[in-house]
Amino acid sequence: MPEGPVNSDRGVSKGLRVGVVGGSIAGCAAAIELQRAGCEVTIFERSAGSLKDRGAGIGIPFALVELLQARDLFDVDMAIVPIKLRDFVTRVRGKDRLLLKQGFVIAATSWDELYRNLRQRVPDEIYRQGCEVKALRGTADGVVVELAAGQDATFDLVVCADGYTSTGRRRLFPDQGLRYAGYIMWRGLLDEAQLSDNTPYEGINIFAVSPLGHLIAYLVPGKKGETQPGKRRLNWGWYVNTAHADLAASLTDRNGKTHATSLPAGSVAEKRVDRLREMAREFMPRFVSEAIDLTEQPFIQAIFDLHTPNYRKGNVLLLGDASSVARPHAAAGATKALYSAVALAQSLKTQPSLESALTLWNEEQSREGRRLVSLSQRLGKALQDPKQDWPSMDEQAMRLWWKGVIGDEEWYVMTDDE
Ligand SMILES: Cc1cc2nc3c(=O)[nH]c(=O)nc-3n(C[C@H](O)[C@H](O)[C@H](O)COP(=O)(O)OP(=O)(O)OC[C@H]3O[C@@H](n4cnc5c(N)ncnc54)[C@H](O)[C@@H]3O)c2cc1C
Repeated sequence: MPEGPVNSDRGVSKGLRVGVVGGSIAGCAAAIELQRAGCEVTIFERSAGSLKDRGAGIGIPFALVELLQARDLFDVDMAIVPIKLRDFVTRVRGKDRLLLKQGFVIAATSWDELYRNLRQRVPDEIYRQGCEVKALRGTADGVVVELAAGQDATFDLVVCADGYTSTGRRRLFPDQGLRYAGYIMWRGLLDEAQLSDNTPYEGINIFAVSPLGHLIAYLVPGKKGETQPGKRRLNWGWYVNTAHADLAASLTDRNGKTHATSLPAGSVAEKRVDRLREMAREFMPRFVSEAIDLTEQPFIQAIFDLHTPNYRKGNVLLLGDASSVARPHAAAGATKALYSAVALAQSLKTQPSLESALTLWNEEQSREGRRLVSLSQRLGKALQDPKQDWPSMDEQAMRLWWKGVIGDEEWYVMTDDE
């Protein structure tokens, strides 16, 4: 993994013309790093207004926070809620039961906080908003980015950081698409001040397992980045097994319109929210069902897998969710995008040719992406298994079960707590 900043004149980054498609987490991180490495960068972002609320709570490794603070991509006082433990809990015959207290270390923050930190470091003059990229085309002079509004721009390298529906990926790897994972996620965010004071969960990082699927709930900074107790927010997400045949109905909003991947806050029909609250009262620990009751506008996101064999074709690269999507269980999406952006700049700064820089980057990043997608699938399968008899588990059985799931896999959140 890349460490502190490396200054080298050996590389090919100086003066390289780079177009970045997408100005969210991956796009901003790449633009900052590449510009500092001496590239001439332009970002094209489709949205005309400011980006917000792209993922509510997000957990990233402390090592990454420190790395990006050292490289001045994050403020040193960035808003983070440290998490050290998680409580596996279940509800059995109307009573809550703690199954396991497990070491689990992560820096909880929010999408807004990550984006704010990165965007403020991207000069406005290179961030072109309201610019949708329609197509990419190779020419003798480089890669041409065609904008929906009509103009073209030519670059030596194009980085597609345009998310999981990536235009770049559809062009490079037309056969690779999102594959439904078999469950949707109900999500919500509410102020900590609304929660009951009587939480039995130290630190509040709850993994509630149930026959319908598991739920996670953890504290993240408040709307303005507050991290003091009482001012934070509770981020929860309940993965609910949903047959593929029922997916379209699950993604149909209160006006009867069916969406492709998610239903935004405020668009879910009231009777479905009522049903969610009923299910929570039956299957979730009381603290969680109360939080779901208090959440004004729960929203829905379907869970998908995506992995492309390579993150590069010629001088076009895929970065962040454009390249692969690991299910959220691995807490890896933003993490992978950020490490990958730093690694790209390092490779361009230190490799003697563009070809060797891109080959090296692609090999390392696609290998890591494959690993994370497969880890997230394994975690999802185990946590969503409808046949798992949670009420029969005790602490020892939970530890054995977890060992069987995780094996020898390195996963940054886990600590040896046995
Ligand atoms: C429920 C959930 C929980 C998560 N939890 C975690 C976690 O704990 N830890 C973690 O590390 N990650 C987590 N993630 C993943 C993380 O949110 C994403 O991986 C990360 O934000 C991806 O950023 P991105 O920049 O690649 O894509 P996006 O944020 O999707 O950005 C793509 C950008 O490209 C723009 N765009 C798209 N098409 C075009 C076009 N044609 N022209 C111009 N612009 C375009 C879009 O407007 C958008 O701004 C989670 C994700 C989900 C869904």
